[in-house]
Amino acid sequence: MKVLVINCGSSSLKYQLFDMENEQVMAKGLVERIGISGSVLTHRPGEQKHVIKTEIPDHKKAISLVLDAIVDPKHGVLQLMEEISAVGHRVVHGGEDYAKSVLLTDEVMEALKRNIELAPLHNPPNIMGIEACQQLMPSVPQVCVFDTAYHQTMPEHAFLYGIPYEKYEQYKIRKFGFHGTSHKYVAQRAAAFLGKPISDLKIITCHLGNGSSISAIEGGKSIDTSMGFTPLEGLMMGTRSGDLDPTVVTFLMEKEGWSTAETNNFLNKKCGVLGLSGVSSDFRDLESAADEGNKRAQLALDRFAYGVKKYIGAYAAVLNGVDVVVFTAGLGENSASMRAKICEGLNYLGIEIDAKRNNIRGEEALISSDASKTKVLVIPTNEELMIARDTYEIVNKKK
Ligand code: ADP
Repeated sequence: MKVLVINCGSSSLKYQLFDMENEQVMAKGLVERIGISGSVLTHRPGEQKHVIKTEIPDHKKAISLVLDAIVDPKHGVLQLMEEISAVGHRVVHGGEDYAKSVLLTDEVMEALKRNIELAPLHNPPNIMGIEACQQLMPSVPQVCVFDTAYHQTMPEHAFLYGIPYEKYEQYKIRKFGFHGTSHKYVAQRAAAFLGKPISDLKIITCHLGNGSSISAIEGGKSIDTSMGFTPLEGLMMGTRSGDLDPTVVTFLMEKEGWSTAETNNFLNKKCGVLGLSGVSSDFRDLESAADEGNKRAQLALDRFAYGVKKYIGAYAAVLNGVDVVVFTAGLGENSASMRAKICEGLNYLGIEIDAKRNNIRGEEALISSDASKTKVLVIPTNEELMIARDTYEIVNKKK
């Protein structure tokens, strides 16, 4: 069975086509600049890449080009579009409606639309992708896989904020958590890597990329996570502020005369390591700048590592101990120096990094020393595979 996985952003679309017989990726690609001049589709049916530059005004056109590329006689990997048995969509916000992936129905679509107000930047492009697929492949079942779903196991005392309970009831203001598919995948892989049942493990997963979040996972269930009502809470990120005294926001609005939109833009796009360093939101740039003596780049890296360390400490307390710490995503998988800096001085938690083992990037590996009571692992994330697996399972169950 072939499953197409789609991840739609506002002006971009990523896709992967899986053969679920062996869970292999048959083709993958990226559409960029949807609705903006210079649109481009990069299709990769293997090692080579095939680039199509054409006008792509909307997500429907983008998906139609992706389907054409998949069945293209020269660069395609399928003979007929009908060979695609299901489509799995990444959906950012499922609100309180979904604790699991679901088959798309009219009722689900209504819930997605209802949740737009919780994720105004993310859910609309996800919905556009789903609607485009409905139009282009009306008989193919579609599955929604939510970033928030995995964290729906958090207890009330973890997900509620210190605001009147009525505001939670009225507006659903609470911690939802994101990157759930990634936290779930790496936690499962960590258990498999160690050859232990996940039900026996206390795991802290650190998804450190452009967006970053940490989760406390007990017996395979998320019991707390650092992102909140939106992906702005928690760690300082590439361009997002992370945790702040809320008064900083109202203070700035007053001083600068900013509107809500301007303030949101500031907090999401101008802060984080970009704002602190004044250099870049990209950790590779920061590491090079710091190596060349840029003090603020170094400060941003130090502040970032300090934030991750604090959450690891907090979640070790929440879990009453920790068996495994996992690093994943762009920074977590690739930056040995950041992993070493985060784990420095965590000996009281039984964490000791082996410098030689830590000198790897982008592969599953144990990086803690033999003496380290807590295991530290690097596990490359694979959200697309998780989406494909859920889609496959749900569609087969329906049959
Ligand atoms: P997202 O999916 O949130 O956009 P990624 O998980 O792709 O982000 O992570 C992107 C981040 O990972 C960037 O800030 C990038 O600098 C960082 N990164 C990727 N490779 C390296 C590396 N070799 N060293 C340090 N940072 C890296």
